[in-house]
Amino acid sequence: MATASSDIVRLYLRVHNRDETVEWPKASTTEEIKSVLLTAADVPSTLTKDVVLKLTQQNGCLVSIGPKLTSNTPHTRYTLQVVSEKLKSGAEDSVNPDELVNTVAKLKGQIDSVSQVAKLAHPHKGPNAMVRRAPNIDPRYADRAKYVFTEETKEYLKQCSFDNWQWEENEALALLELMFDDMGLIEEFKIDVATLKRFLRGIKDNYNANPFHNFKHCFCVTQMMYGIIHTTEIVHKLKPIDKLVLLISCIGHDLDHPGYNNAYQINAKTDLAIIYNDTSPLENHHAAVLFTLLRAPETNILSNVPDAVFREIRKGTIRCILATDMAKHGEIMTAFKKHVDNFNIEDQDQRNLLVQMIIKCADISNEVRPTEVAEPWVDCLLEEFFAQSDREKAEGLPTAPFMDREKVTKAGAQVGFIGFVMIPLYELTAKVLPNMEAAIIQPIRQSLTYYKEMLEKTEGKK
Ligand code: 5GP
Ligand code: MN
Repeated sequence: MATASSDIVRLYLRVHNRDETVEWPKASTTEEIKSVLLTAADVPSTLTKDVVLKLTQQNGCLVSIGPKLTSNTPHTRYTLQVVSEKLKSGAEDSVNPDELVNTVAKLKGQIDSVSQVAKLAHPHKGPNAMVRRAPNIDPRYADRAKYVFTEETKEYLKQCSFDNWQWEENEALALLELMFDDMGLIEEFKIDVATLKRFLRGIKDNYNANPFHNFKHCFCVTQMMYGIIHTTEIVHKLKPIDKLVLLISCIGHDLDHPGYNNAYQINAKTDLAIIYNDTSPLENHHAAVLFTLLRAPETNILSNVPDAVFREIRKGTIRCILATDMAKHGEIMTAFKKHVDNFNIEDQDQRNLLVQMIIKCADISNEVRPTEVAEPWVDCLLEEFFAQSDREKAEGLPTAPFMDREKVTKAGAQVGFIGFVMIPLYELTAKVLPNMEAAIIQPIRQSLTYYKEMLEKTEGKK
């Protein structure tokens, strides 16, 4: 039997109905491994950004693609599949129309209420928005009773270095479902699994295709929260209700984000600004869309909890989502600072503040991830910022310098944000949560060094 030498990883694959063998040096990065697999799958270099690679064991378990991947044998050959988000949206159009109409009819009441809240952010959206927003289950997702993930993937999901770009949307939904299961929340709150699947699908459908504030960002924030609470082991000290609040808050925290921030909403006097009187219009809207989904019977994962518990969950969730408004950053930092030297997790108010700090960390956490995972997020954020400032200029509204394509560079934006916002937030949290230094704060510092060097190089060229 062929065995790989100790410094080489050799993988036996089945790809496009043929057998392939690929190899790479053990020290390779995720990017390098992916490029070997992309070549094996005949993906042209022009398309590599649009595809997700999926590696599956013979028992159907998904295998994560990264440096931890070890050699297999011809008898344990993996299947390599190429999934294209672009091709997929075409395939979705071919869903049996009768099936869609039935599902839409069944969920009519709920669609109306969701789309009414959604219309606040998109007053000009046509009637099609209603169908797009129907939380019907994607047939490919519903047919599969359960995705199966390897133990290794389940552990990897608990790490802050998780690579979000490896997973297609349905897998991300299954990973979110796994978090509910793994933290014992399905059992504790008697959550109906079919309802949970519909809820998660409804969540995905109510994120817009913005460059940054999209469903992938929702997934990243949720996964980072999950990574932080496991890395710091605080997961063992939080109460089930805190975990549920954190999980649904992260999942819902940017729902129906229109791609333009609060400053734009207020300056342009949008419906959201008027309805919420200029007070965190976006965050109020995200929470309102979340609770619209949680009110509809088809997607209400909280239908089996007593009213008093529901009220407590709702209060905590609203508190968490409103805490993600960066206008509240200083206020929350100051409040938390008062308790760090003598922190008492049994005290409800202090625990509430800690939970707010955790969601705040998760919300702005891209730079905790390895550079090759984090850096594309900066491009996404700047694309959204630039589109906003272009529109503000066109509409004669005030523009913020950090969003202006004439004034911002990637390196400049990150040096400032990491140094003045991220590190102080994470260092303050680390006064209460253990184990943050090596796996969470060090990668942020490395990122700061990376962008400082980039800034020096670009400044040097001027
Ligand atoms: P949000 O709640 O909008 O997802 O995150 C809060 C805000 O923090 C973002 O809108 C953005 O202004 C800022 N932010 C989050 N991550 C980054 C980052 O990596 N770089 C910069 N420059 N700003 C960020
Ligand atoms: Mn966010």
